[in-house]
Amino acid sequence: MIRTRPSYRDISLYAPPVVPCRVDLSDNTNLFGMPPAAERALRDAATSTVTRYPISYAPDLKQALSAYTGFEPSWLTTGCGSDDLIDCALRAFLEPGERIAVPDPSFSMMGYFAKVNGLHFTPVPLRPDFDIDVDAMLATGSRLLYVCSPNNPTSTVASRAALERLVDAAPGIVLVDEAYVEFASSSNVDLVRSRPNVLVTRTLSKAFGLAGMRVGYAIGRPELVAEVEKARGPYKHSGIAERMAIAALTEDVAWMKARAEEAKANRQRMAEALKAQGLEPMPSEANFLFVPLPDAPRIASRMRELDVNVRAFQGLTGVGDALRIGCGPWPMMEAALQALREARR
Ligand SMILES: *Cc1c(COP(=O)(O)O)cnc(C)c1O
Repeated sequence: MIRTRPSYRDISLYAPPVVPCRVDLSDNTNLFGMPPAAERALRDAATSTVTRYPISYAPDLKQALSAYTGFEPSWLTTGCGSDDLIDCALRAFLEPGERIAVPDPSFSMMGYFAKVNGLHFTPVPLRPDFDIDVDAMLATGSRLLYVCSPNNPTSTVASRAALERLVDAAPGIVLVDEAYVEFASSSNVDLVRSRPNVLVTRTLSKAFGLAGMRVGYAIGRPELVAEVEKARGPYKHSGIAERMAIAALTEDVAWMKARAEEAKANRQRMAEALKAQGLEPMPSEANFLFVPLPDAPRIASRMRELDVNVRAFQGLTGVGDALRIGCGPWPMMEAALQALREARR
């Protein structure tokens, strides 16, 4: 028998059901298509972009991110999606056996990343008002505290006061996941400058519409970013992905902002329509709506029979069952509303 790592035995793969549906609102990606300059970059890729290695640690991409975010390249690192940066940060800042504190419910991948890095996963229930529970998170004694804001799946944000208190009292690093920041009314990225212990992760998978290209980035003080780069390895995205991301960050920002505005407007309209169906979506700062609803898994499976895919959650802490519905072009929202109405009949 080949001996493998005992702690890996009961790790299961992240495999959300792949259900081909005409309308797929299940993964919070951009439903408005590819950013135009990124599409040109894909078409016009040079042979060397394919045949040669990209430059290690993606300096060109960091330059484009620097212009987009206003942070110096030394404050930035990139990865194969922000998933990769979260994984690298856990590896860079915690030794196996240490504890990581994660609000509950929050990003479902965190339990997996904790496990593959040999960490002790400590979920901390959100408060009844869905804000983070600062004292409970601090009480875990964890040297790495994760906060997703806007939070997946609840669509709500951590309050600024709570986040500042957490950061100031934390015995280590606070990792702030801003995957949905483009749909929120504000960002907390300024904490990176005013505090020594904050790392912010972001992605081109959601608002920028490049989920399949796998490009994410992190912002933090150079001392922190340097540690993440050690955990990251030199080549984390393909040359094509890099060219597309640079094009999108340089030329497609107005495109992205216009699509994000449309997603936000449709989110509002969709929330009203859901309320008219007697439902109570949470106030959302992301490109999806979170709708507590008993029996959500059965309702979602009926909706799939009607060609509309939304994400269902079962027995979430403090919530129970719920649906998560991505917000995109209005005709898709209408299809979802109709399928939901029929599925609940
Ligand atoms: C989608 C998502 C990500 C981003 O994943 P990528 O690896 O960048 O595609 C990160 N965090 C949360 C909470 C997400 O929902």
